[in-house]
This record gives sequence, C-alpha cells and structure tokens, in this order.
Amino acid sequence: MLELPVYLDHNSTTPCDHRVVEAMLPFFTRDFGNAASHSHAFGWKAKEAVDYAREQVANLIGASSGEIIFTSGATEADNLAIKGVFEMYAGKGNHIITSGIEHKAVLDTCRHLEKLGAEITYLPVSPEGFVDLNKLESAIKPTTILIAIMYANNEIGTIMPVREIGFIARKHGVLFFTDATQAVGKIPVHVDNDNIDLLAMTAHKLYGPKGTGALYVRRKGPRVRLTAQMDGGGHEKGLRSGTLNVPGIVGLGKACQICQLEMSREAERLSKLRDQLEQALLGLGQVFVNGSKQNRLPQVTNLCFKDVDSNGLMMALQKNIAVSSGSACTSATPEPSYVLKALGLSDELAHSSLRFSLGRKTMEEEIDYTIEQVSKTVHKLRGELTWSIT
Ligand SMILES: *Cc1c(COP(=O)(O)O)cnc(C)c1O
Repeated sequence: MLELPVYLDHNSTTPCDHRVVEAMLPFFTRDFGNAASHSHAFGWKAKEAVDYAREQVANLIGASSGEIIFTSGATEADNLAIKGVFEMYAGKGNHIITSGIEHKAVLDTCRHLEKLGAEITYLPVSPEGFVDLNKLESAIKPTTILIAIMYANNEIGTIMPVREIGFIARKHGVLFFTDATQAVGKIPVHVDNDNIDLLAMTAHKLYGPKGTGALYVRRKGPRVRLTAQMDGGGHEKGLRSGTLNVPGIVGLGKACQICQLEMSREAERLSKLRDQLEQALLGLGQVFVNGSKQNRLPQVTNLCFKDVDSNGLMMALQKNIAVSSGSACTSATPEPSYVLKALGLSDELAHSSLRFSLGRKTMEEEIDYTIEQVSKTVHKLRGELTWSIT
C-alpha cells in the first residue's frame, strides 16, 4: 500500500534498518558498560561488541580491524583525516589537492587550513562530474602531502575514478584520502584494490544510526600517521579520545554487515526503479540528467527541469514527496548548488534541479506515484495543458 509522504531523500539520511535497531538495543540498558573499563564484565562485554563491530566495518571495505577509528560521523572523520595529515606531515609540505565538488565537511576544512598556511588546489570537474587525471597529476608538487577526493558525489551520485587517483597518489608518494560516505554500502569499495590510505564513512547513510561513523587509516604500505584532533583519554589508539558510543558502533557494524550481504541485489533493484523514474521524467521534455549516467550510484538521479523553479516544484510536492534541491537555503535568496555550478550549469539551471534518491524500502508504487505527481506539477508550473478536468 502506498503510504504518504514518499521518502526519496536517502542521500541526506536513511532510516535505521530494524535489524540494526535490534542489535543496538541491549547496549543501552543491560549491556551498558564502558568499553574502556578493563576491570569488570560490563566493560569486557562492551569492548567485545565494539571489537566485533570493528571487524564488520573493516570487512565491508577490505581493511583490517586495527585500521578502523570510530568517530561521531563522516564530518568528524573528514576533519580528522585532513587536519590530522596537515599537522603530522607539516615537515614534508603544506599542499593539499581536492576537488570543487567535495562535501562541505571537506571544503570547509580545507578553507580553515588555508588560514593556517595550507596551500589548497581545488580541481575543477568535467560537465559529467569527474576530475581529470592529467590535471590531478600535474597539480602534484614536492610539497603535496594529501589528495582528498570523494568516492561518490552526494548530489549527483557520480563515482570518481578512485583507483586511478590512488595509483597516481602512490606513484608520487602522496597520501590519498577519500570521503566514501555515499559509496560505502552502496557499491563495492576496497581500500587495497582502490589504493586508498584514508577513508571516511558514516552510519546514517547506510541504514545505521546518526552520530556514528568511522575513519579508515592505512597501517602498512604506507603506514599513515595522524595528529589527533580530540585530546583526552587516549581512546582509539589516541586518535579520537572520548568514551565510545557503544550502541552506535554496534549499529554501524550491523549496518555494514547487512550491506555486505544485500548490496548487490539492492543495487540492481534500485537502479531499475531509478531508471524507471528517470526515463519517465525525461519524457516530459526539456528535462536533463545532471552529471554522468555512467559510473553513477544506483539509487540516485539529479534532474534539471528547464523553465521550472525547483524550489517551487519542491514546495508543491513537499507534503507528499520528500526530495532535495542542492541549494543552500540558509539565506533569504538561496544560493544555487555549488556542485551543479561546478558542472557548468547556469544559476538558473541549477535552480531548476532536483535530486531523487531511493532506498532500501522504496517501492514501485512510490515511484509510480512520484512520476505522476512530478509530471502534473511540472506541467502546471510551465503553464502547459494537462488532461485533468478543471
Ligand atoms: C552526509 C555526508 C557527510 C556528513 O556525514 P555526517 O555523518 O552527517 O557528518 C560527509 N560527506 C558526504 C559525502 C556526505 O554525503
């Protein structure tokens, strides 16, 4: 049965899988111990659960459990990776290469470091949303310490040529950090095959709880060292002090395990539904896909509806369908999405774009309903004839 409103904003956050909630519950009450309490059974039980979750997270990305540092989410993992490398490798250099379409957690961290003396190169992307590997390689200089390029983009879903980027980084002895928040759990990610040295992820984008994430830190070939950004009790090998969020970590672990088992089937199902939605809306005419349709996450499409104000479209839909426009609505006049601008879209076209992101519970009826509602509203906003009787 169709239940309203329809949620098509899974790139913003996902609901917790009920199996994840079930795994977490005992750790709020019966097994409430502090994982750092070594002197009694309450602590041991918590530590055991954290160790198990660490294995589950590591398994999903081809890492070993000693390389996983738990954080409060991807924003913190991004900060720890970039600031941690900047401080630790200050003796080698101050140059960081990133892209113009990174998440704010990466871009704002880089902006902050610029004030502290970092030199940042913001690589442009092609109209399809990819960094140019030749431009990347020629941006490397003796002072380059880090390449920070995301695995998959949150707004348009395009997947960067990560393996090649990692290969170039390694060839030049530069560390490679990737914000893989949107990729992990959706598509296969493997830190060794992809030549990744540091990787950020978060639970709430893969059907786990909000407020828990992880940073992968390569231990050998090369061994990556970081300066901690949080000082205190020396938890997480001294890289992230603070009492561990045991229920959250258990949830992240379980969410990773479920993704590992179900990812390929889920991707197939969602890409079919996504394509159905996309094809139908492209059929309205003067509608375009933003970014590449190749090398794209299975569950997302970002569409530009010419001559339609996407905020108006979103507002007309928002009672029944939850979608997102990339614009930052923090001010009275919303700024167009910087990601879409980086693809070369005009302000007007960026302001005509909407992101639809599907998820584990998305049903075909919801897609049919969305096609119907969006089509009707686009016609109306364009002042076109519709067949409805008025
Ligand atoms: C959601 C997201 C983040 C932020 O994750 P939080 O856990 O909410 O801090 C960072 N990077 C990307 C690409 C994201 O999609």
